[in-house]
Amino acid sequence: MSIIEFRKTSKTFGQVTVLDQVDLNIDSGEVVVLIGPSGSGKSTLLRCINGLEQITGGDLVVDGISVKSGNANLRQIRQEAGMVFQQFNLFPQMTALENVAFGPRQVRGLAKAEAEAQALALLDKVGLKERARHFPSELSGGQQQRVAIARALAIRPKVMLFDEPTSALDPELKQEVLNVMRQLAQEGMTMVVVTHEMSFAKQVGTRLIFMEHGKISVDGEPRQMIDNPPSDRLKDFLQHV
Ligand code: ADP
Ligand code: MG
Repeated sequence: MSIIEFRKTSKTFGQVTVLDQVDLNIDSGEVVVLIGPSGSGKSTLLRCINGLEQITGGDLVVDGISVKSGNANLRQIRQEAGMVFQQFNLFPQMTALENVAFGPRQVRGLAKAEAEAQALALLDKVGLKERARHFPSELSGGQQQRVAIARALAIRPKVMLFDEPTSALDPELKQEVLNVMRQLAQEGMTMVVVTHEMSFAKQVGTRLIFMEHGKISVDGEPRQMIDNPPSDRLKDFLQHV
């Protein structure tokens, strides 16, 4: 069974159609890399999965739950899909450890000691155990993004959504974030990743999707699609990333 099912999903903002009857099934363990021109609907597609945007047509089912089935279910969906943004979005007044422990304490009502023990294990996993007591302002961009990944993992999601996670980072810091993402993929995490990192797409992606004007225009095996683009528009796009 697919863990994410777009069924003729549409999203409009006023007169503007941003997702146009998208059909897409994503299975457990897939690492889907999503590419496409600016404004093609990539962020909106991700944001609909965890209910940050409401769909306006069709249906969207996440782990068997429709995003249209009410607020209690939406809360459930948000716990199943962790999200990582371009701009880290850490709580600036909290340490790395507190950022990671926050979700489990709020959402799952974990006691402080237990939440912090788990948070420390996650920070260790992303290579930041020694930075646990630092505030975001004391961390590099790459470190902040790794904290953000640990924070998303802390709610024990079944799916991880990444929206251009390395776009705000200097080249030398991108790799440490991509390495953490690669490790997650190897552990079998289901991931949907909007990125311009084509080497990551080739090495880690199990599937590449090219979006244009709110529709999926190409969907296939990453290496094949990148080395031999099946459409001129994809070919053109790849020459400019
Ligand atoms: P991408 O991530 O591929 O660049 P987005 O999903 O961010 O594309 O945006 C797709 C289109 O939807 C753009 O034309 C954008 O202006 C529009 N859009 C996104 N969010 C909103 C919003 N909250 N209100 C109105 N229009 C929006
Ligand atoms: Mg975007």
